[in-house]
Amino acid sequence: MTATRVLVLNSGSSSVKYQLLDMRDSSRLAVGLVERIGEESSRLKHTPLNDGGASRERTESIADHAAALQAVAEELAKDGLGLDSPELAAIGHRVVHGGQSFTEPTVVNDAVLAEIERLIPVAPLHNPANLTGIRTARALRPDLPQVAVFDTAFHTTMPESAARYAIDVETADTHRIRRYGFHGTSHAYVSRATAELLGRSPEDVNVIVLHLGNGASASAVRGGECVDTSMGLTPLEGLVMGTRSGDMDPAVIFHLMRVGGMSTDEIDTLLNKKSGLIGLCGDNDMREIRRRIDEGDERAKLAFDIYIHRLKKYIGAYYAVLGRVDAIAFTAGVGENSAPVRKAAVAGLEQLGLAVDDELNAVRSDEPRLISPAGARVAVAVVPTDEELEIATQTYALVEA
Ligand code: AMP
Repeated sequence: MTATRVLVLNSGSSSVKYQLLDMRDSSRLAVGLVERIGEESSRLKHTPLNDGGASRERTESIADHAAALQAVAEELAKDGLGLDSPELAAIGHRVVHGGQSFTEPTVVNDAVLAEIERLIPVAPLHNPANLTGIRTARALRPDLPQVAVFDTAFHTTMPESAARYAIDVETADTHRIRRYGFHGTSHAYVSRATAELLGRSPEDVNVIVLHLGNGASASAVRGGECVDTSMGLTPLEGLVMGTRSGDMDPAVIFHLMRVGGMSTDEIDTLLNKKSGLIGLCGDNDMREIRRRIDEGDERAKLAFDIYIHRLKKYIGAYYAVLGRVDAIAFTAGVGENSAPVRKAAVAGLEQLGLAVDDELNAVRSDEPRLISPAGARVAVAVVPTDEELEIATQTYALVEA
C-alpha cells in the first residue's frame, strides 16, 4: 500500500491544531484542535471528514503535549485513521523560526532539533512549543519521517539590502539580528495561487501579498521569490495588527522605560498584546470595528483609518520595490472577508493601475477570485490561504522524493 496521508501539526504553548490530509487529491480526512493543555478542563474538538461523521468534543484534563497527541491518535483511530496506519507517509510540523539555517522544509533528525533549539532566543514564544510537538510525535512514531516546515523559509531569498537593519553590523551578527519575516507558508501558497488564478507561471509574475489576519504581514514576491516582507526579527514589525503595533520609532521604547518607568516585559506585552487595533479602539475584530463605525463611533473610525494608512504605505513601498506589479492578493481572516478593508486599501491608487470593482468585491466565496475591474492593469485578487495544505504539500514532496 502506498502511503499518501500526511498529518499536519501546529503546536502552540497550550494548544495543538491538526489536520490529516490525503495527498492523492489533497483532501482533508480529519481536522481538530486541542486547547488549554495543562489545565483542568482541556478541550479536544475533532471533526472526521472522511465519511461525513459529526464533530466530537472531549473535555478532560490533558496534562501535556504527549497526552494531547495520544488523545488525537485515539480520536483518529475511531474513524479508521489511526496514526499506526501504513497509509501515513509523514508528519509535517509548523515551525515558526528557522533563522538563516533553514531555507527549505527539512526532515527532522537530532541535529535539526538542536538547531531549532539554538534559535529559541529569537522565537522564545513559539519554537519551544514547536519543538515539544516534534519530539512528542517522534516518540509516538519513531519510524516515520517528521518534517519541519518553517514560517521564515520563504523569506530567506530576501536580498541583504532588505534583510538587514541599518545598525552596527557586528552587533547585529553577534545577536543574529536581521529581518526574517513570518507567515512564509501563507505568502508562498498565496503568491503561487495568485499566479495560477492569472493563468501564468509564478516565475513570470510579480505579486504583493497582503496577509491580513489577527497577525498581519505584507510581502513583495518577484517571479516566485520573496524580495521583501513587513515582519522582521519578530512578528512585531510592519502593518497595524489585531493586537500588535507594527512599525514604530524604536525610541518609543526608551521613552516608555525612562519616562514611563515601564519594564522590558511590560513594554513587550504592551506592544504585542495591547496595541494595534485593540489598543487603538478596544476591539481587534474587524467585524466589530466596522459595526461600530456604522454606528458613528469615532475611535473605531480612527483605528480603521490608521490600519488602512499603514497598509497603503506598504502597497506603495512594495510597488516601488518590485517596479512592475501584476497582482495584489488579499488573504487571511480580514483580507478574505472584509470588502471595506480591500476597497479602502486601494482607494486613490488608480494612478498605479489599482482599483476594485464594488460588485466583485462584495461577492463572498471560498474560491480565489479577481475583484479588479475587467482590463485593469494590475489584478486585485482575494486568495484564501491554506497553510495546512502548503505544509502537507511540502512535507509530502520531500518524503516522496
Ligand atoms: P486569522 O488570524 O486569519 O484567523 O484572522 C482573524 C481575524 O479576521 C479576526 O480577528 C477578524 O478581525 C477577521 N475576520 C474574520 N472574519 C471576518 C469577517 N467576516 N469580516 C471581517 N473580518 C473578519
